[in-house]
Amino acid sequence: MKNFFQNRFFGGLFSGSLAVLTALLFSGCGARIQEFQSVDTAMGTVVRQTLYVEGAGEEFARELTACVNRLEEEFLSWRLEDSEVFAVNAAAGTGENRELSGWMRELLERCREVCEASGGAFDVTLGSVARLWDIDTWAAAEQSGYVLPSDAEIAAALEGVGMDKLKLQSGTISLPEGMSLDLGAVGKGIALDELKSILSEQEEVAGAVISLGGSILTWGSKPDGGSWNVGVVDPFDVSNNLAILTLPGGTCVSTSGDYERYVEVDGVRYHHILDPATGRPAESGVKSVTILSESGFLSDALSTACFVLGVEEGLALAEYFQAEALFVDGDGEIFMTEGMERYLTPTT
Ligand code: AMP
Ligand code: MG
Repeated sequence: MKNFFQNRFFGGLFSGSLAVLTALLFSGCGARIQEFQSVDTAMGTVVRQTLYVEGAGEEFARELTACVNRLEEEFLSWRLEDSEVFAVNAAAGTGENRELSGWMRELLERCREVCEASGGAFDVTLGSVARLWDIDTWAAAEQSGYVLPSDAEIAAALEGVGMDKLKLQSGTISLPEGMSLDLGAVGKGIALDELKSILSEQEEVAGAVISLGGSILTWGSKPDGGSWNVGVVDPFDVSNNLAILTLPGGTCVSTSGDYERYVEVDGVRYHHILDPATGRPAESGVKSVTILSESGFLSDALSTACFVLGVEEGLALAEYFQAEALFVDGDGEIFMTEGMERYLTPTT
């Protein structure tokens, strides 16, 4: 996908990153490479960056975060009034055929492809159901006073769901009454693709590992030639990793888990990954799915889709898109694609 922001890379917003210069390293040819770390927020999540950079690491980190913020503000947010998704949602039911940016058109076509390949398990038109459950207000915690939606409310919200009901033709879009787009399942992955594109067009950052919540990009190489190590969170104890993935630069890793955002009512956990077939949190027997792909879009879309599909169909879907997948089921059993094994070192 074309990098929409590349021309404006250095015209960015100041995002106030908390940055810590941690070490000075030297590359073989004598140019000074510094390890630079920063922690910030964007897209409603924590952004952690480790950059191996020649020169001003702080400026790079700030610009990369600003790129993620612009993506959210100008395109992806269903909540911010200046975004393209907001405008498309606001026109639902009016019959208006809205002009789409080329970037958004391509993105929605790719979402449609994953939707079809997953038999509808991944569907970015389920905004009405996500808003009904109010998942964006959930933290990973018990929440007092939360009232579960009724069957009738869920059935009504589902009326507006289905990519097949979406009119997407020759550069325009029209949503039927009650439909609303929610790109929350792919936003972070798309952002990783944008960051990757920016990083590949400059020479100062030799290597990087950047995480946006549950989606992580490795890029380039470390000055010491070492590989990138990324932990797979244990969904039964999120303070621990159950495995370490040793990855080459250029890999996107996304995890969808029932521990990321949920509410508990009467001892039952309701999480944020919804099954478009039922309008309820998916009950596929899966606790978490981790996907590896060179594409951030695919890693993110497939982690959500595979969570909804469960182990068997999810493995087939990942293989169809030539991505690697690791599932942890409700009994703590691990299932993975054959190609995943070469990256994985269990921690116990
Ligand atoms: P992720 O954490 O990447 O699995 O994405 C979950 C987010 O995507 C939720 O917060 C919703 O906004 C949205 N979502 C939930 N279920 C689905 C689904 N089945 N298909 C597409 N988007 C979804
Ligand atoms: Mg996802």
